[in-house]
Amino acid sequence: MNKPKNTMKVSFPSRGANEGLARMLVAAFITEADPTVEELCDIKTAVSEAVTNCIVHGYRSRIDKVYLTATIGTKPKDSAPWVVIRIRDKGCGIEDVHKAMEPLFTTAPEEERAGLGFAVMESLMDRVKVISHPGKGTTVTLEKRIVSKAGEGDADR
Ligand code: ATP
Ligand code: MG
Repeated sequence: MNKPKNTMKVSFPSRGANEGLARMLVAAFITEADPTVEELCDIKTAVSEAVTNCIVHGYRSRIDKVYLTATIGTKPKDSAPWVVIRIRDKGCGIEDVHKAMEPLFTTAPEEERAGLGFAVMESLMDRVKVISHPGKGTTVTLEKRIVSKAGEGDADR
């Protein structure tokens, strides 16, 4: 990210109800970047997947803090706004991030998890970065270029 135009930093307990809160907060925050309905839906879905992972995997049955930061900014040589969202927990961490990101890989099949959360995030966002330390926690960074402000695909807005 070159020049951040706006930033938001929040934390909330890892309660299931707060997945909806995170979606709404991010949706309200990125309004300034003037996303299309599709871009907005994609970002909300990716945020839901990442926050749910903190709640169900990172902290499992315990309640602890989920940290969310969001930035709207620009990248060098690109006039379009970029939304960058970082979702972090201080939970159990991931032993093998590469394996965890493979579609259909899950450590919670008994909870009827499909192992598709990371695959969904990757399909909806331009970049997904996962940094994790077993026993210390996980940080997921989601990046998306908002095409609308670049003057492309503006017709139906
Ligand atoms: P689904 O998202 O389809 O319900 P899932 O959560 O198992 O299933 P992914 O979101 O792709 O699938 O995550 C894959 C695996 O990565 C999880 O099963 C879990 O083992 C691990 N994982 C993901 N996020 C975290 C996290 N924040 N902390 C610890 N482990 C995680
Ligand atoms: Mg998941």
